Amino acid sequence: MFDSIEIKGDRQNNLQNVSLSIPKHQITVFTGVSGSGKSSIVFDTIAQEAGRQLNSTFSSFARLFLPRYKRPDVDAVNNISPAVVIEQKPLGGNARSTLGTISDINPLLRILFSRFGQPHHGHASNAFSFNDPEGMCPTCQGIGETYVLNLDAAFDRSKSIREGAVLLPGYVKNGYYNQQLIKTKLFDNDLPLDQFSDDQWDFFLHGDPDERVRTKQKFEGISRQFFRTTTQSDRDTSAGAAKRLATFATQTLCPACGGKRYNDSVLASRINGYNMFDLTDMQLSDLVAVLKAFDDPAMAPLLTDLQQRLGDMIAIGLDYLALTRDTRTLSGGESQRVKAVQYLGNALTDMLYILDEPSTGLHPRDVHRLNDLLKKLRDNGNTVIVVEHDPDVIAVADHIIDMGPGAGSHGGTVTFEGTYAELLESDTLTGHSLKQHLPINPNPRKATTFIQSQPSSRHNLKNIALKVPVGLFTVVSGVAGSGKSTLVQQVFAQEHPEAINIDQSPLHANSRSSIATYTGIMDRLRQLFAKSSGQPAGFFSSNSTGACPQCHGKGVVSLNLSFMDDVEVECSLCHGTKFKAEVLQYEIRGHNIVDMMQMTVEEAVQFFNDKKIASKLAAVENVGLSYLEIGQTLDTLSGGEGQRLKIAAELQNAGNLYILDEPTTGLHTADTKNLIRIINDLVNAGNTVIVIEHNLDVMRAADWLIDVGPDGGSRGGEIVYQGVPAGVVDCERSITGKYL
Ligand code: ADP
Ligand code: ADP
Ligand code: ZN
Ligand code: ZN
Repeated sequence: MFDSIEIKGDRQNNLQNVSLSIPKHQITVFTGVSGSGKSSIVFDTIAQEAGRQLNSTFSSFARLFLPRYKRPDVDAVNNISPAVVIEQKPLGGNARSTLGTISDINPLLRILFSRFGQPHHGHASNAFSFNDPEGMCPTCQGIGETYVLNLDAAFDRSKSIREGAVLLPGYVKNGYYNQQLIKTKLFDNDLPLDQFSDDQWDFFLHGDPDERVRTKQKFEGISRQFFRTTTQSDRDTSAGAAKRLATFATQTLCPACGGKRYNDSVLASRINGYNMFDLTDMQLSDLVAVLKAFDDPAMAPLLTDLQQRLGDMIAIGLDYLALTRDTRTLSGGESQRVKAVQYLGNALTDMLYILDEPSTGLHPRDVHRLNDLLKKLRDNGNTVIVVEHDPDVIAVADHIIDMGPGAGSHGGTVTFEGTYAELLESDTLTGHSLKQHLPINPNPRKATTFIQSQPSSRHNLKNIALKVPVGLFTVVSGVAGSGKSTLVQQVFAQEHPEAINIDQSPLHANSRSSIATYTGIMDRLRQLFAKSSGQPAGFFSSNSTGACPQCHGKGVVSLNLSFMDDVEVECSLCHGTKFKAEVLQYEIRGHNIVDMMQMTVEEAVQFFNDKKIASKLAAVENVGLSYLEIGQTLDTLSGGEGQRLKIAAELQNAGNLYILDEPTTGLHTADTKNLIRIINDLVNAGNTVIVIEHNLDVMRAADWLIDVGPDGGSRGGEIVYQGVPAGVVDCERSITGKYL
């Protein structure tokens, strides 16, 4: 039988006709600088092709309902297994999803309580779910939070009802609801609301069942009516309802259950003194200890199962999370590890697991846990493909494929295939950089003045403040769950709204934005064309009079096929160039506007030899993105590329406060060195930069290091060290110090 996945002639994105074998039932790590082509092979070719080949085994009718995969630009991909792509994408979910509900752990705990909880009610186990009417708190319906009306937004209390004091939808002065309200004559329609007595005001807001009987009027109160109509008519799915709630209401802890989500009868049921909420609200490492003390032999099979699943989560370094944790608040890295653990418990074999930089968010101390998980997946009979930069993950690979040598058109070839030992000896950028570390910053800039936050006890913080030296490059370090994001993002940044967060989220741009429009050189290009052609500048814009008449400058047309997703196909008139044919007749030194969009940043700088263009592209070159084509649209950039483009746009500024959250994600050691240089440029220009990082080279390069910990969750939340990076090495309590 075949024992490898065979790729022949891959030309996707920047790949230069790559052919490869990937051994099955082994761990293969793809390395290479950012933009070298790793994702083009792993995600755009292998994952797409696995999905497509699986789909093609279904009937054409069934395929209508399956996700659609693009055919990669490759001659052949053979011997592939069904693929599971475990991405960095946050888990998301809704107000009803917690770590406990999406893992298999809450269901097991529910069975435990339904059989062994005291007093014993002989329930079925659904009664112990906050998502089931039998188990949920009736006031918040299991959400744990309720809305209250934001009085300042909902009323102008200086006005009377007749003058339009109620600002809620439908109550405008002559609105239907206001007319109805006036007709009830329950209130003095001409008295300003701020002159209502306390009782009147209360009745006005909430109605009153007793009063209703006495006055024989049906009046439910303005507040109740607002929430009933908003949540019933629109359901909670509607964007309109969400917007109205955001405008007129504030969310608070449910007064009935205090955020516990369960009803009283669930909360009354206990084992060893703990109820369902108590168990789910403690961090996983504590839960394991509590469950160990449950010694009824009848519980043993259930407990074994529970301990197994909890053990897997703890083994991957999620010990500091609680089952009550809302899945929407998990970071990308945490989400990926939760998903990966779920697959361990599943008996499928001969699957292909694809992971994208799973070390993101993990402190060097914990990377070995990730390696154990990868090995387990492999030892269960699966093929594991990982895109990684972390030296310790690369070291665990059975097989390494290094892409390069450079990025974009300078990359796209395989520069090395083999074992870790062979990689270290190879003449590749990756091999060389694995052997050399940056020294600890010997000349840190001096800290003089500080920006501070108020001391906080949010989440696991132990009444600590963040104190950041002005005009320096500060790194905030600590193991996952120690409290870095809480301290920096949720405490410090909330108090300092002037801070500019440069994160990895996509650039807010419409699908037509490209490097050329984002940097502003597109305008200059149009001017140059206008000057040389005598046509107006708008003629050279695909958003204006230059647009292809068939696709209106989109380059693609959507085919609306009944009951299928719309399919986008290349426009047959302009062949995807977006321009009408006349525009393409005009050339500058042999190149029309479409040819120019295919130039890379560095090619454009050389070709135009124009001061304005060069200065606008200099910042992009400076952050190491000179390999991008100027026509490449922003939605095709990776998170890291987008982040660096954002930094490029900030390099002209001074006196700002920047926060970067794990900027080395997606970066090769060689890219990281470049990033450190860019951060220093930002600081040299007179800015203050705070970086949350696990990357040791970045910590070593900082002027100031703030280590949060010592450990994760309840065992963290303190400032363990703050000062120059060299000092942390002698700090006994700092885990980070042991790795620097
Ligand atoms: P890596 O994963 O090694 O960082 P990628 O495979 O994402 O690199 O990118 C390789 C090259 O292909 C880069 O120049 C990138 O900008 C380009 N690229 C990636 N996706 C697209 C796309 N959808 N359209 C055009 N170019 C792309
Ligand atoms: P780090 O950024 O160092 O990984 P975090 O600040 O994310 O750490 O987490 C610190 C602690 O606070 C952890 O115990 C974590 O589970 C908890 N925590 C973080 N965010 C939330 C949240 N939105 N709700 C509840 N607990 C949270
Ligand atoms: Zn409640
Ligand atoms: Zn067209």
